[in-house]
Amino acid sequence: MNKTKIKKLDIFLSSHKKITIIPHKNPDGDALGSCLALMHFLKQKSHDTSIISPNNYPNFLKWLPGEKSIIKFSEEEKLTKTIIKESSLIFVLDFNDLNRIGDLNKIIQNSKSKKIMIDHHENPKKFADLEFSYPKISSTCEIVYNILYNLNPSFINKETATCLYTGIMTDTGSFKYPSTTFKTHEIISKLIKHGANGSKIHEKIYDEFSLNKLNLLSICLNNIRKVEKLPVIYMTLNQKELDKCYFKKGDSEGFVNYGLSLKGIKLSIILIENTDEKIFKMSFRSKGNFPANLFAEKFFNGGGHKNAAGGLSRESLKKTISKLLIALQDFNDEF
Ligand code: 5GP
Ligand code: MN
Repeated sequence: MNKTKIKKLDIFLSSHKKITIIPHKNPDGDALGSCLALMHFLKQKSHDTSIISPNNYPNFLKWLPGEKSIIKFSEEEKLTKTIIKESSLIFVLDFNDLNRIGDLNKIIQNSKSKKIMIDHHENPKKFADLEFSYPKISSTCEIVYNILYNLNPSFINKETATCLYTGIMTDTGSFKYPSTTFKTHEIISKLIKHGANGSKIHEKIYDEFSLNKLNLLSICLNNIRKVEKLPVIYMTLNQKELDKCYFKKGDSEGFVNYGLSLKGIKLSIILIENTDEKIFKMSFRSKGNFPANLFAEKFFNGGGHKNAAGGLSRESLKKTISKLLIALQDFNDEF
């Protein structure tokens, strides 16, 4: 961890401040875990801290310590604007491009407060006054742990540890992705020491499915198609199928990973219709060297990490799949 940056941050935090923390839109375990961990830490330093999420998030994250205090911009626009106006410091966590926060983008751009970015995605955009950008690190939570440890390890309490454990666990696929290093495990061991209950956290995230979600998974798995001559599979869920299972945000989380459990498959793709937004949201998961982020960026207006990326299509399912098959030929040499 860069000592000069830590020092700079320490100076920012040396006097009492109103602070806002923002995760990316559709926040996941790493985004919310890192925001909440930072909030618990800052509260111990007596800062007045708010978390503003661009929108709602899945129920399986609605048990995280402190989660109830999160304000959703999509539901409380006026309150959000007031809070941001009064804040002198804004942290942005788990994203590096203001396009990832939807309509909050303009409000943040217009704010004169100091901005601090903490993130692990590639190609950060220049908008922050202080950047902690480490694309090789497993998760934003791992970076936040390092920062907090350097600022004051005695402020890492059970709540902070639980939130950080959750983010590291979800962003490493329960410690199995190649981004998991001995340092990740060292941090995890310290978080357990600080009071995080790994087994309970895993259960809360992965073993509290609804029957609707399991029914949706069965439809999705039934829709799996193998791409001829390539180590690729894709699966689809259209609006009708989603409606049939009373789809709620987060219900399709993790489905795309099932594709990679097939022997020999190097890329798994899921396409999920959203008739309100008139899009197919796409998720890409790869094994080995296939650069899912570059593929998503080049063809589907997206990005992410080498082995986990997302994007979207505004065309029909049929056209999207045709485009996908042609795009895959373009990346043939990457398999
Ligand atoms: P997921 O498939 O779980 O939505 O996202 C996987 C990864 O891709 C995450 O790290 C996320 O940050 C990134 N990602 C997902 N959707 C988009 C997108 O539309 N644009 C960009 N740039 N990244 C995305
Ligand atoms: Mn992350």
